[in-house]
Amino acid sequence: MTTDFTATRAMFHLPEGVIYLDGNSLGPLPRAAAARLARTVTEEWGEMLITGWNRAGWMALPSRVGDRVGRLIGAPAGTVVMGDTLSIKVYQALASALALRPGRRVILSDTGNFPSDLYIAEGLARTLGTEYELRTVAPEAVAEAITEEVAVTLLTEVDYRTGRRHDMPALTRRAHGAGALAVWDLAHSAGAVPVDVTAGGADFAVGCTYKYLNSGPGGPAFIYVAPEHAETARPALSGWLGHEAPFAFDLDYRPAPGIERMRVGTPPILQLAALEAALDVWDHADMGEVHARSIELSEAFIAGVEATCPSLTLASPRDPAQRGSQVSFRHAEGYAIMQALIARGVIGDFRAPDILRFGFTPLYIGMEEVTGAVKILAEIMDGAHWDRPEHKTRARVT
Ligand SMILES: *Cc1c(COP(=O)(O)O)cnc(C)c1O
Repeated sequence: MTTDFTATRAMFHLPEGVIYLDGNSLGPLPRAAAARLARTVTEEWGEMLITGWNRAGWMALPSRVGDRVGRLIGAPAGTVVMGDTLSIKVYQALASALALRPGRRVILSDTGNFPSDLYIAEGLARTLGTEYELRTVAPEAVAEAITEEVAVTLLTEVDYRTGRRHDMPALTRRAHGAGALAVWDLAHSAGAVPVDVTAGGADFAVGCTYKYLNSGPGGPAFIYVAPEHAETARPALSGWLGHEAPFAFDLDYRPAPGIERMRVGTPPILQLAALEAALDVWDHADMGEVHARSIELSEAFIAGVEATCPSLTLASPRDPAQRGSQVSFRHAEGYAIMQALIARGVIGDFRAPDILRFGFTPLYIGMEEVTGAVKILAEIMDGAHWDRPEHKTRARVT
């Protein structure tokens, strides 16, 4: 397939006068999602009321959409299901994986992981008992830290701060070699870089959809369970919709066959409808080409910033093969600089303590935006326009 990026860009609503380099945090609105949401609200919820669960196929939506997300991450049909938020899915995947390695007590993660993943792991370890331990090492030290004590590695493939990308197949092989299972968080991978959970050997994979998959704020997460664990994994959160027969209303829990057991409660139909429409864009895009274009854009951005803004230091790996689809720079006044950028219509984000983060999403961002963003950033740095009180007041969400 040859991806027509002009065509994919036309599928999004992008506000006038904005250069949006934050699709890695919240994807923009796909036009089809707005139309689909309106239809789901008025024609389905409005007219069908509760009969929509059957007549509009709402109950099957988590698996139907799961299969479509699965295609983007190399997962076969029937191995991915949607629901809840990523933090919840991290809990489920990790708890299920730990139960499959009953003799071991160590969860291995790294200090570049997203805090929610670490908090969830720490909380779960505490719930399971004092002998459980969350061990976090530097991202570069993960491979050597995979010892025979480790039950599960819990790693996020692409670092949310720096964009540094782990070698998923190599680390998974190493985990398996030591008798551990591998849980991969694909929050910054799905829709950003080619991922193959099957070839990579992941035991469990999870991710969110409101970043590169453009499902909108609060869009549901996904969970993948490798076929060899599908019938043995305990879902950890044993809700009624993961039951073998939810509408039998049995008093005892029996997990549903396969991936359906990872469902918990009532699925968010409006968000799933938006996501299903958002995924249509991928019928017109080739993941390999999207990634290649993202590298072109990121390389141009790095070159532009380094040529014009000497006080900013690249925080991402210089080798594009070791990055996801974002580029980060460090500066002690990073927060104020980002506020000044946003005030001029260039939207990226800031991650404490000093990271300015820019996401490159070729479905709707091209070279013109890259050049424009570099020019505005250079003006802000040259004129120290960030050095104003209004750019230094921290908002609740950075
Ligand atoms: C974005 C992100 C999250 C967010 O989790 P939610 O439950 O959806 O808020 C968790 N983990 C990682 C690695 C992320 O990048």
